[in-house]
Amino acid sequence: MKAVVVHGHGGPEVLRYQDWERPEPAQDEVLIEVHAAAINHIDVWIRKGLPGVTFPFPLIPGCDAAGIVRAAGAGVSGMPAGTRVAINPGISCGRCEFCAGGFGGQCDRFLMVGENRHGSYAQFLTVPAHIVLPIPDTLTFEQAAAAPLVTLTAWSMMVNKGQLRPGEDVLILGVGAGVGTAALQIAKMTGCRVFAAASADEKLELASSLGADFLINYAREEFDKKIRQLTDRRGVDVVVDYIGAETWVRSLRSARKGGRVLTCGATTGFDPRTDLRQIFYRQVQVIGSTMGSHRDFLDAMRAVFRGQIKPVIDRVLPLSEAGRGHEAIEKREVFGKVVLKPWDGA
Ligand SMILES: [Zn+2]
Repeated sequence: MKAVVVHGHGGPEVLRYQDWERPEPAQDEVLIEVHAAAINHIDVWIRKGLPGVTFPFPLIPGCDAAGIVRAAGAGVSGMPAGTRVAINPGISCGRCEFCAGGFGGQCDRFLMVGENRHGSYAQFLTVPAHIVLPIPDTLTFEQAAAAPLVTLTAWSMMVNKGQLRPGEDVLILGVGAGVGTAALQIAKMTGCRVFAAASADEKLELASSLGADFLINYAREEFDKKIRQLTDRRGVDVVVDYIGAETWVRSLRSARKGGRVLTCGATTGFDPRTDLRQIFYRQVQVIGSTMGSHRDFLDAMRAVFRGQIKPVIDRVLPLSEAGRGHEAIEKREVFGKVVLKPWDGA
């Protein structure tokens, strides 16, 4: 089969499109013919390297996949060949104290498809059957691959941990990214007012088309001051910030007294200066989140299946051009997801 394989850290050129042995499903696994694979920021970090983290190279990256079940191990039932499916990229053990409490995203043995084992930048993929979800015919493979990681991440952070409530004011920073487009739609379906912030007017126009109530270009104006002005100095109930270093201090200032600042990433750096007075004096809660439980995945995907959350796709590229996709994401040229197609014309 064809696959994109990373043999060592580096620029987009280390995403090598090559022949690779087609995998066989183990006892509890299914073999999926991959028809769409979405690129996530984690793929870029795996390619570039993260301090203190070792990846099992050579590695096929790619967390998000949609395709057709072609075979299953002897221990798998209810997953016949031909079933159209998507996957939950996170694999929880189901046995540790966190899994037992319903917090599979905090599992002691948490594994990621495309990080700890081969991922979806390939024509075929094997995964444990319990992370595989049949998809309705109304959803294209591209949409089904674009949704899971970002939608379950936003869902777990906002609905589960953030306890989002109708009528709340929500500020979303970097609204053009995949998590941002999902966060915006979750806030709207909950009945919140959304303040969308991004560094480019085109991205804000697209956010407006998804229902954003207020648009803030933070390349042009200080977003914390703008939030104070738009909310009569109150601040917002919830801030969603995965930008990190560039925005953190202003994010804390944008929250109302007792508000929540939700963080699930740090694309511009992970060691921002923090003004602790903004946290204790104003009693702001900082809530961290990454990925989510399988329940979060199922809840988020149900909303996608019903059309309440629309997967936002910036562009579709052939698998051989994965490097171009990574470049576009690193330059923040995209609104929504970049999706790779491993098969010509399929
Ligand atoms: Zn566990």
